[in-house]
Amino acid sequence: MPTPAERHAQLCEEIAQHNYAYYVLDQPTVSDAEYDGLFNELRALEKQHPELVGPASPTQRIGAEPREGFTKVTRAVRMYSLDNVYDEDEVSEFDRRVRDELHGDATVSYVAEPKIDGASIEITYEDGVLVLASTRGDGETGEDVTANVRTIRALPLRIPEKRTFTVRGEVFIYGADLDAVNEQRKADGEAEFANPRNAAAGSLRLLDPRITAERPLRVYLYDLVERYFDTHLEMLEHLAELGLPTHRAHRRCDSLAELLDFIEHFDELRASLPYETDGIVIKVNEMGLRDELGFTSRFPRWATAWKYAAETGETVLRSITADVGRTGALTPVANLDPIPLSGTTVSRASLHNLDMIADKDIREGDTVVVQKAGEIIPQVLRVVLEKRPEGTTPWEPPTTCPACGEPVAREEGVAALRCVNARCPGRLRAGLWYFTRRSAMDIDRLGKSLVEQLVDAGLVQDFADVFALKEKREALLELERMGEKSVDKVLEAIEDAREGRTFDRLLTGLGIPLVGTVAAKLIAEKYGDLRHMLDAETEAMKEELAAIHGIGEKMAESVAAFFADESQRAMLEKMLVLGVKAEQPRKEKVEGGALEGMSFCVTGSFELKRDAIWKRIEEHGGEVHKSVKKGTTYLLAGDKVGKTKMDAAEKKGAKILDWEGFLALLEGAAAAPEGEASGEEPPADDG
Ligand code: NAD
Repeated sequence: MPTPAERHAQLCEEIAQHNYAYYVLDQPTVSDAEYDGLFNELRALEKQHPELVGPASPTQRIGAEPREGFTKVTRAVRMYSLDNVYDEDEVSEFDRRVRDELHGDATVSYVAEPKIDGASIEITYEDGVLVLASTRGDGETGEDVTANVRTIRALPLRIPEKRTFTVRGEVFIYGADLDAVNEQRKADGEAEFANPRNAAAGSLRLLDPRITAERPLRVYLYDLVERYFDTHLEMLEHLAELGLPTHRAHRRCDSLAELLDFIEHFDELRASLPYETDGIVIKVNEMGLRDELGFTSRFPRWATAWKYAAETGETVLRSITADVGRTGALTPVANLDPIPLSGTTVSRASLHNLDMIADKDIREGDTVVVQKAGEIIPQVLRVVLEKRPEGTTPWEPPTTCPACGEPVAREEGVAALRCVNARCPGRLRAGLWYFTRRSAMDIDRLGKSLVEQLVDAGLVQDFADVFALKEKREALLELERMGEKSVDKVLEAIEDAREGRTFDRLLTGLGIPLVGTVAAKLIAEKYGDLRHMLDAETEAMKEELAAIHGIGEKMAESVAAFFADESQRAMLEKMLVLGVKAEQPRKEKVEGGALEGMSFCVTGSFELKRDAIWKRIEEHGGEVHKSVKKGTTYLLAGDKVGKTKMDAAEKKGAKILDWEGFLALLEGAAAAPEGEASGEEPPADDG
């Protein structure tokens, strides 16, 4: 059993990886339900152990940082995510909280509106002209996608409005349009979009607006940043008057009963809409009341999202096959008679593992109930036994690997089959694909189908061979769809990767079990480059790694085992011979910082955002405590500090520090905990 801190680190790492795949690459690798499971576990763990919450925890952040290649847009008013409610009790709880917070002395009304499953966008009109559009990014900083947004036909480039108008909304795609786009991608040998959301986000974030223009994107606007109106409804009406696309399916609700009624009503309506909605957003209508309610680090307190249960459907399961992953794990997949579900056509579903197939007794030929909750791979929920045809037999797991034909191993106690053939082409294909990904070695010209061809033609037998391809130009020219130009481009991209990647990307790409992008960075910062890791002694490496905050013992063992493996070592040495550089820039040392040896708990409101203060503390060598505990040196208190925090500080012996006192510490002045002003105003940004 991992300790809470270890589990916390694992969850943070895993969720950070999923966030990256989802928000930056638009290619989720797990279902939303699985993701939400991990996220909820993290939330529960942090509730029990508040000391584990740090500024980097996914519970404190929104989305992900902007992708490289786009100009960053830092916005004045942050874009938030939404909290969720799943049943009537939770809606009622939300309503009660809002009313309590407003002390019951205000008349509050709500607006309920469709929650479209797309990608959020912010669009600015100056003097009536569309001048800027950006994605949500991490909320504060998004990507400038103005050129792409201009291609959305329903969006006016001019509006009859002279004031600055910063509108927010959702870019999305119709289900039928997504099917067509996916057909085309399949024909082009490209990965299909998992769902309408990924298609919208992916199309919005193409570096070439000409391709975006070919995608049938649409947009609905539901928010205005400037406070020109007293209520949400007045604002929506005005947007429509200006010719901006808004949805018409919203309703004002004055009570909980009316909210619940709309939720029921909209559930019927949404089935007939040509685009996917996954719920309803409930917002407080009165802007003045919103101010009183405020925000948490991720959500407004004046709004929440109702999520409908996932859509299900019945279809026939024709066959069960197995996909080989990069670690050799065989994932059983159900091949289905195509069925329309949540706006897309579903023909494959994940079966997760052998136990699931046995438990549910899923057989080839069965009619099954499939569920899709806006995720990539739908799930098989259960078998409709009444419809089971005669003569079916329980499914027999394969005894040999479908990719290499070698016998597969079934691991003790784990419901998984594994191909243990280190030279299995199926594993290599999946591994190489991972190696070239954008978050790893970023060789984007080496797409999935080319990787498959390279492996099948025997041109690449391990990751290092990629860097020897320039000697195999002739053979490359013989591959499908590879003319002179494409070969040049691929070789150029490989050259770029040979010297142009940091060590953490190489480590990520190697696909060492348990190691994702976040851990790879920690390891890379420790060792600096490949040579140093190859030269490290196994036991020492294990210890050194386990001592790093954020790396557990299991991960340390996994990394050390990888570097002790003879065939991996040979491959890595070959990479060095082939001139792969991959060095990690030195991280600035915080040792000797002004705050070294001190710990801080931050409370109350400051002009600076909470995580910016945390960052500043850490940059100067201090430690951040999420709550006041024994040994906390200072409680850094801003405005409106709660009494409980003050009491805790007194009880645990933490000194109270105000902003000026904090600045004095930073300047290295004598510790002046209370009120010794340095004259500097708190800066207004992250500075
Ligand atoms: P969210 O999608 O649950 O809700 C917030 C978003 O709703 C807003 O940003 C906005 O874009 C959108 N929205 C649509 N209609 C709206 C309206 N009328 N008013 C206001 N907003 C409206 O939150 P999120 O933070 O974007 O994403 C979290 C979701 O993403 C979770 O459901 C999670 O399962 C999924 N996710 C999945 C993975 C994965 O790997 N599968 C990874 C990360 C997140």
